[in-house]
Amino acid sequence: MINIKDILDQLYIEYKSISSTEVRAKCWNPNHVDAVPSLNINLETGIYHCFGCHIKGNILTLVQDNLNIGHWEARKVLSQFSKGGLTREDKLQKLTEHIKERQKPLPQRNSPIEIPKFVPAINHPYLINRNITEEERNKWNIGVVKEISNPAFFGYNNWIIFPIYYKNILRTYFVRSTKGSNKRFGKYKRDDIIFGLEDCINYNEYLFLVEGIFDMIALRKAQIQVASLLSNRILPKQIEQLKQYKNIVLVPDNDDGGMYILNDAMALLNYCNISYSPIPNNKNDPGSCNLEELIEITLNHIPLVDKIVSKEFMLWYTTKFTRR
Ligand SMILES: [Zn+2]
Repeated sequence: MINIKDILDQLYIEYKSISSTEVRAKCWNPNHVDAVPSLNINLETGIYHCFGCHIKGNILTLVQDNLNIGHWEARKVLSQFSKGGLTREDKLQKLTEHIKERQKPLPQRNSPIEIPKFVPAINHPYLINRNITEEERNKWNIGVVKEISNPAFFGYNNWIIFPIYYKNILRTYFVRSTKGSNKRFGKYKRDDIIFGLEDCINYNEYLFLVEGIFDMIALRKAQIQVASLLSNRILPKQIEQLKQYKNIVLVPDNDDGGMYILNDAMALLNYCNISYSPIPNNKNDPGSCNLEELIEITLNHIPLVDKIVSKEFMLWYTTKFTRR
């Protein structure tokens, strides 16, 4: 017995129910730009059909196409799903095991984390497309997930992966689909990690802070110190580490979420000179800027205090933090 919804979830295919037996998803045909989801999947049979480009298939081709694997590998993947015990007894059994597991002593602090298997993403088209050089690929150990044995990870198969080391310990990982915009971090704590901060050892020089890893790699092309917060927040444990830098420049994404960084950074106003550098209006994040724009970003700072009294910021702050 195979549960189609489980498979869609594991493959990170987003869908909406349209009836009790059918869901609708974005078409995964790379030749079809499907702005309005137009692919229907039958939850009982796994048979799907796209009303835009007319691709159709069954659960086997669905797995094949989404994981970019062959027929036999797809069968193996599917057999993992059909094993899953869903009876009441099975659930109880699993729960009992889980409770036993919880009672074991806590793992060592340095216990190895679980990370999808991967190979180096040498000359990978996705990286080339994002202007990531082989040197950068090598520095950050960027890989491609090759995982069909671990059910927890095979949805990430062929995604780009960054192992995230901090203070010489492998702490978590970041995976990104090369097709849509799906991305994820490993389920490990990262509230103290400022990725790349170990390279930023000139405490008197400007330290640029960005949200994402791709943003950091891009901005480093401008020959400056850059680290990634791995989110659009600056958390208390990150704040503590940033206090030692004299000059911090925030380069948030060009969206509503980016404002949180500016807001959180106010906790540093007593310790550092903090400024903010906007990215061009037509770009979403530093990672999508060209070199000329990146250099412009590094030169054009606005003091944070000026930004936070601006009309734009006040309006954002009021809608986020004021209760009616
Ligand atoms: Zn289609």
